[in-house]
Amino acid sequence: MYIVFLGAPGAGKGTQAATVAQELKLVHIASGDLFRQAIEQGTELGLRAKSYMERGILVPDSISIGMVLGRISAPDCEGGVILDGFPRNLKQAEALDEILAKQAKTIDRAVYILVSERELLMRLSRRWICRNCQTPYHTINSPPKVWGKCDRCGGELYQRPDDTVDKAKKRLEVYLNETAPLIDYYAGAGKLLEVDGEGSIDEVSWRIITALGKGEFIAR
Ligand code: AMP
Repeated sequence: MYIVFLGAPGAGKGTQAATVAQELKLVHIASGDLFRQAIEQGTELGLRAKSYMERGILVPDSISIGMVLGRISAPDCEGGVILDGFPRNLKQAEALDEILAKQAKTIDRAVYILVSERELLMRLSRRWICRNCQTPYHTINSPPKVWGKCDRCGGELYQRPDDTVDKAKKRLEVYLNETAPLIDYYAGAGKLLEVDGEGSIDEVSWRIITALGKGEFIAR
């Protein structure tokens, strides 16, 4: 099964995509994590992506599309994938459809996680992430047991440089202009499942897994 997760920055795509991928035994691919890894490793790709990410704007399609489509074509993705952070615009969505069609595959579902703007800004500015395993924490809603250390792997927690209030606002603006049109794109294809993203992590995971099971698609 090939599933796309849609939602604004801070909607919980990463957390939920990781949980649902584990539950459904799918590979979780997060385009933002692929870029951050490339930056950390100092690769050519990372160097090219860095300045865009620092400004909270999209990395050009000429870089992003090849990176993600290359990853999807790897043998471990044969059994299905959850995509988180990709596609981010219509051109990416069309490129994704094209490469899957060549392999006689298609995007089966698009899960849209809906969260209010006020809640998004609050979540982003209080988010801390494990440098090692990418587990996210929230200073109020889900703090780590020991401050600065990941409960899961003991890794160091850090605040993403694009999670400041100003950068988060910019990312939300980019999301509304470039990514939100994908909601209609997948609704038009009869693949959209809309899920309320507010509440505890477990509540939202349960809603997503239930919605995927029921397959009550939203048409617009
Ligand atoms: P994320 O971790 O998904 O919030 O992404 C962090 C940043 O990585 C974004 O603000 C973009 O600069 C870049 N990025 C991630 N995915 C994409 C994509 N599909 N297309 C373009 N840029 C992306």
